[in-house]
Amino acid sequence: MVDADQTFVIVGGGLAGAKAAETLRAEGFTGRVILIGDERDHPYERPPLSKGYLLGKDSRESVFVHEPAWYAQNDIELHLGQTVDAIDRVAKTVRFGDDGTLAHYDKLLLATGAEPRRLDVPGTDLAGVHHLRRLAHAERLKGVLAALGRDNGHLVIAGGGWIGLEVAAAAREYGAEVTVVEPEPTPLHGVLGPELGALFADLHREHGVRFHFGARLTEIVGQDGMVLAARTDDGEEHPAHDVLAAIGAAPRTALAEAAGLQLADRAHGGGVAVDASLRTSDPDVYAAGDVASFPLGLFDTRLRVEHWANALNGGPAAARAMLGKAVAYDRVPYFFSDQYDLGMEYSGWAPPGTYDEVVIRGDAGKREFIAFWVKEGRVLAGMNVNVWDVTEPIQKLIASRTAVDTEALADPHVPLESLGV
Ligand SMILES: Cc1cc2nc3c(=O)[nH]c(=O)nc-3n(C[C@H](O)[C@H](O)[C@H](O)COP(=O)(O)OP(=O)(O)OC[C@H]3O[C@@H](n4cnc5c(N)ncnc54)[C@H](O)[C@@H]3O)c2cc1C
Repeated sequence: MVDADQTFVIVGGGLAGAKAAETLRAEGFTGRVILIGDERDHPYERPPLSKGYLLGKDSRESVFVHEPAWYAQNDIELHLGQTVDAIDRVAKTVRFGDDGTLAHYDKLLLATGAEPRRLDVPGTDLAGVHHLRRLAHAERLKGVLAALGRDNGHLVIAGGGWIGLEVAAAAREYGAEVTVVEPEPTPLHGVLGPELGALFADLHREHGVRFHFGARLTEIVGQDGMVLAARTDDGEEHPAHDVLAAIGAAPRTALAEAAGLQLADRAHGGGVAVDASLRTSDPDVYAAGDVASFPLGLFDTRLRVEHWANALNGGPAAARAMLGKAVAYDRVPYFFSDQYDLGMEYSGWAPPGTYDEVVIRGDAGKREFIAFWVKEGRVLAGMNVNVWDVTEPIQKLIASRTAVDTEALADPHVPLESLGV
């Protein structure tokens, strides 16, 4: 039983941190909960930043995890706009804020998330070069897209991942000209592989997005501080008024590393290494959300998952583990995306090289289908596109780890629930 005199500190005011705080109180913890975040905004959800909020369809208020008053009502000591810059694991303190305030912890949760990777090319200091991680970035980008749409301006996006594509869709809705530069032969190649990556390329081309595959940005050309063009390593030059760097995110591990906590190797996506109960190499320190690398027994691997559902569920799981409850965090990874009128959900993990075929159930031409990534009959991942309420049976199929009849898998008349049992 956890003592009411104890203090639990959470570093990182994102979804994982806020949900962990909520869970501590929901589970009856009566000790101190200190939540420290370096952003000035209350904890918010990031998915709308490249979708509804960017498009002006979702209000600013709608993105917050809790109402501002919720923190005081739940006796959460919230320190916003304050960076934790050191952890002393012997004294069990964290140091934060400009005045170096020390807070003692009995248990500590690292929920420091990730930060956008920066382009390492000339011209990134120009005013028209953007990243998208924070609410303030989205606010700025919203104005940029509206202006580009109004003036027939060009946006070059470096990176054809989820954020690059979602912003491409938003930019087209504003009426901007969009070129996506991507080193792989399709967008989303590293997650979906070439088969389904091609489907997303077609979707965007139909909406007027231009792709330049097999190339990297080498320079952003400017004049008088403004972007003029983006050059690629094959010598092409794309006109640009603004450039978005959407080349992935890196886990914010500096604090953990300086504190001597074990990190996962880069081959597994880096991050703070935790066990199945989300506990780090220090038994009083936990990590959850984008920053944590956890063992995923289902796939016999260790993974760092940069998705909303992992923050939503990982924060609470870590909170329960901090309270001494038995936790085995072994969820099927899940994420979603919306682009134009295409909505999708993806469950599982099947990067290129791990599967041997993609089985389609439904009509890929009409973009109403489920794709399954299969290895020797075993379903590793499933993505439902404009088909809804199938996540549960898809995840059950993945979790069953048994081979299924792929003809039946492809047949929409065979209930998914009858497979893999
Ligand atoms: C634009 C965008 C769109 C997305 N869309 C989707 C989507 O459609 N579907 C999906 O599944 N996922 C999506 N994601 C991913 C999802 O938002 C993340 O997985 C989720 O935000 C991770 O939550 P987190 O709490 O782990 O980290 P974060 O949200 O990054 O929060 C960590 C917080 O900790 C703060 N921090 C870091 N270090 C310190 C420190 N030393 N001291 C104090 N504070 C610190 C950070 O500034 C940040 O506020 C999207 C992400 C972005 C950026």
